[in-house]
Amino acid sequence: VPQSPHLAFAHNPLDRAANHRSDETWVAEKFKHSGSRHIRLNDDKTFVTNGQIVSFAPADDCESIFLGLDEDGVAWFASATNEEAGLTGLRALAMAGTVTTEHLGILAQARSLLHWHGHHGYCANCGVKTVAQDAGYRRHCAACGTDHFPRTDPVIIIAVQHRSRTLLGRQTVWPTGMYSTLAGFMEPGETIEDAARREVFEESGIRVGDITFHSNQPWPFPSSLMIGLTGVALNDDIVVDTNELETARWFEKPEVETMLNHTHPDGLTAPLPMAIAHHLIRATLQLS
Ligand SMILES: [Zn+2]
Repeated sequence: VPQSPHLAFAHNPLDRAANHRSDETWVAEKFKHSGSRHIRLNDDKTFVTNGQIVSFAPADDCESIFLGLDEDGVAWFASATNEEAGLTGLRALAMAGTVTTEHLGILAQARSLLHWHGHHGYCANCGVKTVAQDAGYRRHCAACGTDHFPRTDPVIIIAVQHRSRTLLGRQTVWPTGMYSTLAGFMEPGETIEDAARREVFEESGIRVGDITFHSNQPWPFPSSLMIGLTGVALNDDIVVDTNELETARWFEKPEVETMLNHTHPDGLTAPLPMAIAHHLIRATLQLS
């Protein structure tokens, strides 16, 4: 399934030029070049004006990450800032469609990398302060020689169906009336299918048989990769784990359609097209 153009953070156009990242001279030349873009983020917030990510002068005193080259060959760099005023969150940008889908992809890359640097400044092996290398794609510990690499956390997210119905749940913290697909972090040593079957059974008591990959989405809060699946349920008697979910139930197709379109008579909703859950739920309307 091709990625929907509405899917946020999934359309990063940059050529990461990974073969150049360990070449300090090449990186320094790009860094100082007057045409290069230098964006700044404070956690998951950045500066946007008139639909454009704001570019700043390069700052020599901060750790900058090389993001890549855009279609015009322009180099993009990102650095962290502590500034509080005038920034907009990435979720808000994605929901409002303020910046292009390509720029959302660049921001996702920047946010996840900067978050990793901000939280992994010391060697997990020996505790000594580490130094960024390869233009931000490695941190090296000079004391024990260990290299540390940026992490991506895989999350399975699955729309389960049973005949004409779709399984949706909701968490207490979500907006009133919103339902979505079940999801959870993968654990070490699991296949994608194992993780999906475990999460669905834990949260809802439903056993899943056949599983099909649908699409995927970087989710930079802070560094997840949503692996989108559809699955077929083997039973339909739901047992909700109330530690994980407020509730879960089966929805017939016409009701699911009104939730996706935000026309449900009781105000029930499903996620917006910026989120992969929207497209997974929509896919179950076409199945069987
Ligand atoms: Zn070390």
